[in-house]
Parts: sequence; structure tokens; C-alpha cells
Amino acid sequence: MFRRSTDGWVEVICGPMFSGKSEELIRRVTRSNIARIPVQVFKPQLDNRYADAEVVSHSSLRVEATPVNGSLELLKAIADTTEVIGIDEGQFFDDGLVDIVDNLAATGKQVIIAGLDTDYLRRPFEPIPSLCDRAEYVTKMLAVCHRCGGPGMYTQRIVRSEDLVVLGAVDSYEARCRMCYDPTEPEQPELGWDGE
Ligand code: ADP
Ligand code: MG
Ligand code: ZN
Repeated sequence: MFRRSTDGWVEVICGPMFSGKSEELIRRVTRSNIARIPVQVFKPQLDNRYADAEVVSHSSLRVEATPVNGSLELLKAIADTTEVIGIDEGQFFDDGLVDIVDNLAATGKQVIIAGLDTDYLRRPFEPIPSLCDRAEYVTKMLAVCHRCGGPGMYTQRIVRSEDLVVLGAVDSYEARCRMCYDPTEPEQPELGWDGE
């Protein structure tokens, strides 16, 4: 006998900055809104770059969103009646998000997570890679390389900083293709490059 599957599943929208992840998330949750399916959208509290209770794309599309401080707070904020859960900037959540999202899908929720799959040094940016492992649907977005117009797969930091995240600083990053990505630009302390 087959066990009847639930209606829940996980969708991940990943890629570098400027690749249209937030736009795509907004498009999908807006469709659910139009269909009158109960939707809740969340974003990490630390990300208040544009607006407090909204997800806003670089192209100024927007949707209402609840800022939460970590995956447990997100879980507690979900109403029983909610069927679709959108999460933007998933890379800024703790690793607890992976099991929480998995369990939400198992209980019939549709969970859509947008986030960076790699950081500015091209390292895996958890928990997005682990969420891809648990997802039925993974969409990898590409930006336009700021240098050459090619397929922009990486996020290039163009200002010097020792922090993993330089928040509120769209001007601090560019999308770059494989050929134009340059780990020595600007000199990155993590790589021990001394600017010679
Ligand atoms: P993400 O959430 O992936 O950072 P957004 O959805 O916020 O991206 O923004 C995507 C929009 O950014 C595009 O539709 C376009 O208007 C704009 N944009 C700016 N720079 C670029 C670029 N280099 N490549 C693609 N889109 C860009
Ligand atoms: Mg975004
Ligand atoms: Zn390029």
C-alpha cells in the first residue's frame, strides 16, 4: 500500500545578489494571494535595508513580510490556517531552519525560501545548500555580470571588509560571471592576500 502524500513541499530559489530571487519569491506568493490561499512571508530581522515589514526587490516589487529573529520565532509566528510560507534572505537564518522547513512541508505547508547559495568568497552559504537537499523544487537564478553581461553566478564584494555580511550596502557588491569573479578584488583578509 502506498502512503498518501501530503500537499506540502519545499521550493528553494537561490543564486547571487541581483539575480531576481526576491522578485521570484514575490511573484510566487502574489499568485497565492490572488488565489486567496492563506500566505505568510518572513524575513530575518537584521535585514531592514529597504522597509521594515516588507520584502522589497531591487526592482521595487514588494510584499508584506514579518521580520523574525531566527527560525524558532518564525515557527511560532505561523498560523494554523497558513498554507504558503515565503522566506526571503534565508541565508541569514540559523541552521535550525532546515528541520523546521522540512517539518512544515511534512504537515502540508508549501514553503518557498529565497537566499544566497554562496557567499562573496564562493563558499556554501548555509542553511541554503542544506535546504536545497530537502527541497522538491530548486530554482537557480543567474544575474547579469556587471562587467561583461555574461551569466552572473557569483556575488563579488567590491569594498574591503572583514565581515561575512556587509548589510545595507547594495553598492558594496556586484554580480559576476565565472570569468570576471576575482577573489583578490579588493584585498580580502580571509585569503591572506596582502595587496601586492
Ligand atoms: P535578488 O533578490 O536576487 O538580490 P532582486 O529580485 O531584488 O534580486 O532584484 C532583481 C532585479 O535587480 C532585476 O530585475 C533588475 O531590475 C535589477 N538588477 C540590478 N542589477 C542587476 C544585474 N546585474 N543582473 C540582473 N538584474 C539586476
Ligand atoms: Mg533579495
Ligand atoms: Zn563577466
